[in-house]
Amino acid sequence: MAKLNLKDLNVTGKRVFVRVDFNVPLEEKDGQMVITDETRIKETLPTLRLLIERGAKTILTAHLGRPKGQREATMSLRPVAARLADLLGRPVAFVDDCIGEKVEQTAGALQNGDVLLLENVRYYNEEEKNDPAFAAKLAKVAELYVNDAFGAAHRAHASTEGVARLVAARGGQCAAGLLMERELKFLGDELDKAPRPFVVILGGAKVSDKIKVIDRLLEKADTIIIGGAMAYTFKLAQGFKVGQSLVEPDKTDLALAALAKAKQRGVQFLLPIDNTVATPVVTDKLNKKGKKIIDLNNPRTNAEPNITDSEEGVDIGPASAALFAKAISTAKTVLWNGPMGIFEDKRFATGTNAVAQAVVDATQKNGAVSIIGGGDSVKAINKAGLGSKVTFMSTGGGASLEFLEGAELPGVAALSDK
Ligand code: AMP
Repeated sequence: MAKLNLKDLNVTGKRVFVRVDFNVPLEEKDGQMVITDETRIKETLPTLRLLIERGAKTILTAHLGRPKGQREATMSLRPVAARLADLLGRPVAFVDDCIGEKVEQTAGALQNGDVLLLENVRYYNEEEKNDPAFAAKLAKVAELYVNDAFGAAHRAHASTEGVARLVAARGGQCAAGLLMERELKFLGDELDKAPRPFVVILGGAKVSDKIKVIDRLLEKADTIIIGGAMAYTFKLAQGFKVGQSLVEPDKTDLALAALAKAKQRGVQFLLPIDNTVATPVVTDKLNKKGKKIIDLNNPRTNAEPNITDSEEGVDIGPASAALFAKAISTAKTVLWNGPMGIFEDKRFATGTNAVAQAVVDATQKNGAVSIIGGGDSVKAINKAGLGSKVTFMSTGGGASLEFLEGAELPGVAALSDK
């Protein structure tokens, strides 16, 4: 059922408790924590500006990192309050806690149009446990509830679910923020009535992560394109050799079932016809997690159906990129989730960049609706400088995937029906 939207609420003079996604990357510079990417803060500005314009008393709550119930100074939201004040061009109050007397006093003193940011809600373990007593403490200051944190909506936490339930039980309204509304529109309604042809491109590491999405989209799409390491599980299932490639041998049955369903439904199912391979060599260097770094040497295009025992598939090859681009060029709707190769390494980003360009061309030249379903594909498209040239980029990672699977997200379910 459609959910209430911020625009439906009468917020003037009301204390509106807003869950936002301010989980921004921070780096320490000269003893100060500095925000290195403020995209997430900027994404919430339309919601915040509307609340300010309508004279709400806005109380923002968010998490940052994984402090695991500790007051971890490097994960404080204080630098976000300062940056948000700059972006909004007005003061943003900050309280170094998210519950308690100080919060209640500051919230009680807010004037219409004021904004208050509370400290990292994950300084309390009770947040992730959706502890009812903790949710009640958070909800003390809330008259209305707005959730604009799509990226956290797949979790039933106190600030994403518990507070909404409590506000609703008191007769208060709970609504989707403007960013959340766009996510639900593009990843939900738009795909349900997607103009055809509808082409889906899925990549990334594991079939097991995306099989539910594949299964659901096989019921909606005209074409499904598979790239990334995922493709090797399909190749193995078809009896080809995949060498040292990242593969899930115990998931070949899922791959075969997807291929059979595609055939039965008349969905075109495209797998890579060539790939870039490299030779993995374990070194003595350690990565940040203390694991040995594996060098990928002697990259080359492999046009054979099999990969040699000593090599690993690291990207789709040029013939696959051309095949995929051609299919994408026919689309009126494109959904893309997951890179075509190990795109973090420039040498193996060619396939991902070719797909990004094909999605942009379909959007700009054919008027296709293009939806980038979160996570690494958003990173890849931004890295290629093409972010402004697609219709919509999701801010969610896990949340986008779960929503695309057709799951009801707890943070959305808790909002009031229209
Ligand atoms: P996901 O989170 O499932 O979308 O997976 C993204 C990750 O898949 C990225 O870190 C890529 O480096 C990785 N990936 C894509 N293709 C390959 C490949 N051929 N071999 C190993 N990893 C890959």
